[in-house]
Amino acid sequence: MNPKSEIISFFKRMYQKNLTTASGGNISILVDGLLYISPTGKDKAFLEEEDISVIEFESGKLLFGLKPTSEILMHRKIYETRKDVKTIVHAHPFYSTLFSVIDEPIRIDLVSEAAIFIKKINYVDYAVPGSEKLANLVAKTITDSDVLILRNHGALAVGENCMDCFHKIEVLEFNAKLQYLISGRNDINFLKDKDLKEIREIFSHR
Ligand SMILES: [Zn+2]
Repeated sequence: MNPKSEIISFFKRMYQKNLTTASGGNISILVDGLLYISPTGKDKAFLEEEDISVIEFESGKLLFGLKPTSEILMHRKIYETRKDVKTIVHAHPFYSTLFSVIDEPIRIDLVSEAAIFIKKINYVDYAVPGSEKLANLVAKTITDSDVLILRNHGALAVGENCMDCFHKIEVLEFNAKLQYLISGRNDINFLKDKDLKEIREIFSHR
């Protein structure tokens, strides 16, 4: 799949699965020195290939498409910091965003799927969306985690490709919802450290 159609199809998927709002969130792919990124303003459920912004990464020059998302600086700083990252998905999923507002971390010891897709969740202090301050805070926080919660804003995942990032966002949201719905109960069976270690060992070889 070419980067433009990948961005379009995963945006549709995220939107259909209620993982982002029509105006919120963005996806980018960096390949061969070109940054493909979702545009600003347009309803993300109806993106066309010619809408996707194509930017020369080095110079920042817009080569094709519409004006890029206002959060492009955050994407650029991540690619500059994490040379292994090829794709970034930023979304505003309801329950993950709920945990960005309250002072309680999202647990990843509730279901085995989280242990497979999410090793660690880091939290980024609030800064105005699209600002250089937020881009710098995100770059500082992404160094040892692929999944971030942006305070009072949303979630972000980095990875190999859109599918990889989509899995991380979807599993994050699943966990956030589960945790919220079981909160206050005293009969919760958490996975133990040895369970998490075991499942990560098994799935790292697949
Ligand atoms: Zn956002």
